[in-house]
Amino acid sequence: MMILNPRKNRYEYLDEKSRAIMLKTIEFFESKGKTQLKSDYHDRVWYADFIDFLKREKIFATLLTPSNYGEVGCRWDTYRNCAFNEILGFYGLPYWYTWQVTILGLGPIWMGRNEDVKTKTARLLQEGGIFAFGLSEKAHGADLYSSEMALTPLGEDRYVADGGKYYIGNANEAALVSTFGKDTETDEYVFFVVESKHKNFDLVKNVVSSQNYVAEYSLQGYPITEAEILTRGQDAWDSALNTINVGKYNLGWASIGICTHALFEAITHASNRVLYNKHVTDFPHIRQLFVDAYTRLTAMKLFALRNADYIRAASAQDRRYLLYTPMTKMKVTTQGEEVINLLWDVIAAKGFEKDMYFEMAAQDIRALPKLEGTVHVNMALIIKFMANYFFNPDEFPEIDQSSSRDRPADWVRFAFTISTSPTTASTCLTWRYSRLKSRFCRSF
Ligand SMILES: Cc1cc2nc3c(=O)[nH]c(=O)nc-3n(C[C@H](O)[C@H](O)[C@H](O)COP(=O)(O)OP(=O)(O)OC[C@H]3O[C@@H](n4cnc5c(N)ncnc54)[C@H](O)[C@@H]3O)c2cc1C
Repeated sequence: MMILNPRKNRYEYLDEKSRAIMLKTIEFFESKGKTQLKSDYHDRVWYADFIDFLKREKIFATLLTPSNYGEVGCRWDTYRNCAFNEILGFYGLPYWYTWQVTILGLGPIWMGRNEDVKTKTARLLQEGGIFAFGLSEKAHGADLYSSEMALTPLGEDRYVADGGKYYIGNANEAALVSTFGKDTETDEYVFFVVESKHKNFDLVKNVVSSQNYVAEYSLQGYPITEAEILTRGQDAWDSALNTINVGKYNLGWASIGICTHALFEAITHASNRVLYNKHVTDFPHIRQLFVDAYTRLTAMKLFALRNADYIRAASAQDRRYLLYTPMTKMKVTTQGEEVINLLWDVIAAKGFEKDMYFEMAAQDIRALPKLEGTVHVNMALIIKFMANYFFNPDEFPEIDQSSSRDRPADWVRFAFTISTSPTTASTCLTWRYSRLKSRFCRSF
């Protein structure tokens, strides 16, 4: 079957350890049950039980540690991470979010140049740590050029960090928070790590009202040494952008998971509901709505799977991922909204009931097109890379799915590929408006 059915999927295409992770995760959510999932969702309960489960089973350690830093079975493998993404979306976006922002937090670390932090991170993952990505600031949103987090040199490799970050998931509990700022002396960008439990880390508040903790935090005279610095200058900038390139792909899978669960609920309800002595699923327009929803969902999944190939093959020479990732982010997630719209027309009032997964899906599906770059920002990226994709064809080797097992992390090779191209300064979500405007004008 093309779409995920947690009762039937056996993940036979995965190795034993990976298969066990998927099945145990499904088991975790199935034993928790829909009633508890919904009650925690409505009561905005921090998912400590899920984080304990991840720790017990060493799931983030296995899935998110490149093999050269982790134990046997650890590797960063986009194929199996897709499956995990889908399962988390299927059971609830909050659970997916803590995984997603851990991925973002790890991006600048694994792409960075600080070997000691990498070794420490591998240990913290083994101990069940979650991570956070401190990029956004309250006043600047997508405009990273204006970042104000300040790292001031004090001499003898000592620094002090001051400034605020806003919308930072997991920052309440993260073992390490990758934080983006500027060196006040050289004005160059810098990525460094801080600990959320440090006395100079001020957790100001949760800016959302949900199961997630999406923090405003401020560093107040937070002491930093060279040991905490991941990257500087162009490398810091590139790792910020490429972390988003890698991370935003997952949003498509969250949409796929959400739509799949909503489709099951909708078809179960409609097929059991009898109106005028007829099953609702026998009405022709309902059939059409289901066919439309199912077709869109399978297309979303097929497209995201193809994108996985391009992420795994990415290199300075093979940059197809730069086109496909914004497409997954933009098109798959907006199609996800469309699928939920179609299904809601089928189940109508039932979609409002608090005990249904659907009510949660209808709200959460809308987040995915907006975060990590809006639809328009990603359309701009697509316009930028489309011409090269269509009009400069080249030969590329076959992408072998099994080879992922021998690689430490399938995106490591392109960690700094952005800096290798003079044209790619504009590949980010912080495109200067004037450039964007001129491109839109030329393209439409
Ligand atoms: C629930 C949640 C969780 C989040 N988690 C994290 C996290 O863990 N870490 C983190 O660093 N951030 C996080 N964010 C921040 C998120 O990525 C922001 O949405 C992002 O920083 C952009 O800021 P903004 O949404 O305020 O939009 P703004 O920057 O205010 O953008 C406003 C408008 O300008 C447009 N725009 C922006 N840039 C361009 C451009 N270059 N060209 C043309 N138009 C443009 C956009 O399309 C948008 O419509 C989170 C946000 C939320 C709501």
